[in-house]
Amino acid sequence: IIQPRDVGWIEVICGPMFSGKTEELIRRLKRAQYARQNLQIFKPKIDDRYDAESIVSHSKQALPSYPVADVGEMREQLDAHVEVIGIDEVQFFDLDVIEFCNEMAQKQCRVIVAGLDQDYRAEPFGPMPQLLAAAEYVTKLHAICVKCGNPAHRSYRLATNPQQVLVGSDERYEARCRRCFAQGY
Ligand code: ADP
Ligand code: ZN
Repeated sequence: IIQPRDVGWIEVICGPMFSGKTEELIRRLKRAQYARQNLQIFKPKIDDRYDAESIVSHSKQALPSYPVADVGEMREQLDAHVEVIGIDEVQFFDLDVIEFCNEMAQKQCRVIVAGLDQDYRAEPFGPMPQLLAAAEYVTKLHAICVKCGNPAHRSYRLATNPQQVLVGSDERYEARCRRCFAQGY
């Protein structure tokens, strides 16, 4: 991305579990840190997989973040001088996160969000469709299908639990390509 000047924008990093969304988010945010930009990182409180206070990738890279229950809490924590906002696991927030991202981009913030574009049934996840439509820049990442080694764009749930939100990683989900996703166990 050639960084625009004096305007804000939205970047979406999407893909299935294990596709490197958090790694990519951390990479972009660290570069903003090196550029001495003022950043704030949020994640939903629901996601307590590794660390309550940080965003952490499966490869154990981390950056400190504010865990928040909802968009209202994000607004409360907001620093008036923020220049770059990062949100991990953005699919878990309500639809009001869309307005929040648009509003902050309008206020000349760079807003970088990472999240699952599809749930375990391959349905669009929460606010992701609207965020993808609203964004200036979209990156769709792939994992590696654990069955066949092809690029994987879906998260297959191993547990038989019908809730859309079931937090957990390796033992509950695996990355699968279209074909292996349809094959089931
Ligand atoms: P995401 O945020 O998309 O879930 P992370 O950034 O947390 O992804 O983790 C990505 C890392 O997960 C990869 O760099 C790799 O080390 C690891 N990984 C584990 N299983 C797979 C897989 N099936 N395909 C690709 N990467 C995998
Ligand atoms: Zn496959």
